[in-house]
Amino acid sequence: MPEETNKVDMEKIVSLCKRRGFVFQSSEIYGGLASCWDYGPLGAELKRNIKNYWWKKVVQERDDMIGIDASIMMHPKVWEASGHISGFSDPLVECKGCRKRFRATDIDSKVCPECGGQLTEPRMFNLMFKTHMGPVEDEANVIYLRPETAQAQFVNFDNVQSTTRKKLPFGIAQVGKSFRNEITTGNFIFRTREFEQMEIEYFVKPGTDDQWFDYWIQERLNYYIGLGIKKENLRLRQHDKEELAHYAKGCFDVDYKFPIGWSEIEGIANRGNFDLTQHSKFSGKTLDYFDEEKNERYIPFVIEPSSGVDRTLLAVLVDAYDEEQADKEIRVVLHIKPELAPVKVAILPLSRNEKLLPMSKQISATLRPHFMTQYDDAQSIGRRYRRQDEIGTPYCVTIDFQSLEDNQVTIRDRDSMQQIRIPVEELLDTLKSKFS
Ligand SMILES: [Zn+2]
Repeated sequence: MPEETNKVDMEKIVSLCKRRGFVFQSSEIYGGLASCWDYGPLGAELKRNIKNYWWKKVVQERDDMIGIDASIMMHPKVWEASGHISGFSDPLVECKGCRKRFRATDIDSKVCPECGGQLTEPRMFNLMFKTHMGPVEDEANVIYLRPETAQAQFVNFDNVQSTTRKKLPFGIAQVGKSFRNEITTGNFIFRTREFEQMEIEYFVKPGTDDQWFDYWIQERLNYYIGLGIKKENLRLRQHDKEELAHYAKGCFDVDYKFPIGWSEIEGIANRGNFDLTQHSKFSGKTLDYFDEEKNERYIPFVIEPSSGVDRTLLAVLVDAYDEEQADKEIRVVLHIKPELAPVKVAILPLSRNEKLLPMSKQISATLRPHFMTQYDDAQSIGRRYRRQDEIGTPYCVTIDFQSLEDNQVTIRDRDSMQQIRIPVEELLDTLKSKFS
């Protein structure tokens, strides 16, 4: 039976992203660079809004969480301790005919799926990007681009705990780029070699980890519902033993129903005390916690909810995308949560008539410090509404000739297409209350 997929066509999302400036192919004028993408003006806003929303929910609104922003390059010992040098690899096979390379676990047959040629025996291929620090390219100067942000939370455990005096349980959050030299990539921004993560390391007393694991699984599922994603397009999936990463006691994925089928947007792992124990051993500096109540020291356990920024963004776009029948034509609309919308308010003078210009510019200047706005006076008002619908702008403000007489403007709602007319002096407060 074919796997359940989202009815939204991935091609339509890719096309919308390119046409409207959400996502471009990286280095496009040179023919592009495999699996690398650039976020354009609207994509950059959407991405920023997603990261801000995450930070607000997991750091600002909680008293048991603090954030850091660490370096991408870390001491090479970090990756020895974490197990990434020995264990973070995929089995790679190469076709002796066409020289194409595949992840052995991706292909069923003993021959090349492209040309039928003979395949080499699988060898382990480390997924970390390797480079050299400084001018000498020798083994002593090898460093790696981080394959996950998490290790910075572990190696900074003592710094953060002693400067903030947090008591267990507490978490350290971070948003940042990670790099994995994947053998196979694809499906637009879903699997790329450079990507952005939003990771929490939540430290708990040993023995309470199972209950905190359950708590975070539920909490993180609810987070995506809060992000405006439809409940029926989300599911939790438990990893079986063979799938578990080398450090994990247990793991659940939050999956989204993408056009490519159910796929992970977040993993929630119980990492036990593996990481802090390893870093204590390799660094010689004990990363433990003094429990004042029990008057004893121990190494905390950790629960890790790890979310992908790019995958969340793709899920938000797919989930919000809709084609509706409106006035005998198809209206493409992104029913995106207003808080995430790249443009919050569009200012649309009815026409380019210069009489409308001073008032329109004045309104634009008044709103701009408060909202991300867009000023558009090209083509018919109907076309302009459609353009804003397509990028998910929640409200359009229209200035017409009547406005010059009665000092009132129209606010049009993206979802209902209802319009209300209000005095200009109430515009800012009305919009503010709509967003709060
Ligand atoms: Zn081949």
